[in-house]
Amino acid sequence: MADRGGHGGPAFLAKRALARAIGVASRRSGRGGGTTLPGRVLLRLEPEAIARLGARLTGGATIVSATNGKTTTAGMIAAILAAEGRPPVHNRAGSNMTWGVATALLEQRGSEGLFEVDEAWLPRVAEQLTPRLIVLGNLFRDQLDRYGEMEALAEEWAKAVVAAPAGTGLALNADDPLIADLGRDPDTERPRDGVLYFGIEDHSQALPELQHAFDAKHCRRCGHPYAYEVAFVGHLGHYSCPNCGAQRPRPEVAATRIELRGMEGSTTTVRVPGGEIEVELPLPGLYNVYNALAAIAAGLRLGVDADRIAAALRGMRAAFGRVETIPIGDGRVSILLIKNPAGANEVLRTLAQEGEVDLWIGLNDRIADGRDVSWIWDADFEVLAGAVRRVTCAGTRAPEMALRLKYAGWPEESIAVVPGIETALDAAVAASPGRLFALPTYTALLELRKLLADRGLAKEFWR
Ligand SMILES: [Zn+2]
Repeated sequence: MADRGGHGGPAFLAKRALARAIGVASRRSGRGGGTTLPGRVLLRLEPEAIARLGARLTGGATIVSATNGKTTTAGMIAAILAAEGRPPVHNRAGSNMTWGVATALLEQRGSEGLFEVDEAWLPRVAEQLTPRLIVLGNLFRDQLDRYGEMEALAEEWAKAVVAAPAGTGLALNADDPLIADLGRDPDTERPRDGVLYFGIEDHSQALPELQHAFDAKHCRRCGHPYAYEVAFVGHLGHYSCPNCGAQRPRPEVAATRIELRGMEGSTTTVRVPGGEIEVELPLPGLYNVYNALAAIAAGLRLGVDADRIAAALRGMRAAFGRVETIPIGDGRVSILLIKNPAGANEVLRTLAQEGEVDLWIGLNDRIADGRDVSWIWDADFEVLAGAVRRVTCAGTRAPEMALRLKYAGWPEESIAVVPGIETALDAAVAASPGRLFALPTYTALLELRKLLADRGLAKEFWR
């Protein structure tokens, strides 16, 4: 009776019912944090629950992982599938551990699954779900105290890819050498069956020089450092190995012409198999172009027509909340999450296109942020040194943030330190009558959202 792939016998049905009931009770009692409680309970009762429930997805499951952008990418794929009349079972932003996946499977109905999965949990979730498609965006240095070296993570991912059944589709970033290599069949040295690569080919978007956050990447075949022709975001770019000759694979989904329009978004011409599409994104920055390329590759692999994909992306709003603008007082606050050097660099680079800016930076060092905040010294705050009118530093590590900004050459008289999130926000808003850009780390973002929600400020997502 304990068939792993089946819907489960009576015992499993009872466990499922109990976990659901606990979810309902938890929501009724109005306690926060109840959102993934049913999944936690179910996994405690039945460790194989994801495999059992996942087997009901007759249209298969797609898994999305990356250090940066997985929520946005998954949101884009969800919009593409919805436009196709195939709304997926989809875990919500941030609920990207096993219990988030289990909760979505428990509480939503649908024939297709789409799961954003935390980097460290990818192998376990992939093993349970036997996905139809795995979408991998990038591996950046992030919260080292939690995960250890990203090369070790790449090894784990490689094992997960090898363990996946033949025929599992892969959408891989050709511009991240650690990711791209996962699509190589080590026996034949050719791309595996079912791999679709995406990447950027517009050299006008190259970084003038390698950034602080650039970690030298070593060839996964021979260990020699890669040589870079261009880099676009952190270590994402065009590389080759001078020792063994390993090359960046040529992507079939490629951004050939990119026009960035600061905070407003971008227009990108994308080469796809058999043609070209024009992609209008309502989200800023080159990092979101990468997210869109991942979503386009995924959509194509899932059988969606290229023109319909373009329409879905155009019609999308930032409903998944990585960037949102909220009216407050006479002005507005635009929120951009920062959590690691590469992601922060993209935010800083986008802000640098805005002219003079007012900022609020919330740096926390709680567990979900990573206790070690030394990463701020690897982010290029220098690029905004000449463009900041005023910055308010908040959060548990506000003084260290202020110190970092002084070293980055930001004028000392423009920097204020106000550790309390609420007082700091009010001070920053009072000092910035127009638009304020708020750059919180993860838990500072949660505090900020709660604060704004408590004040009844309607969320107006960015257009
Ligand atoms: Zn090599």
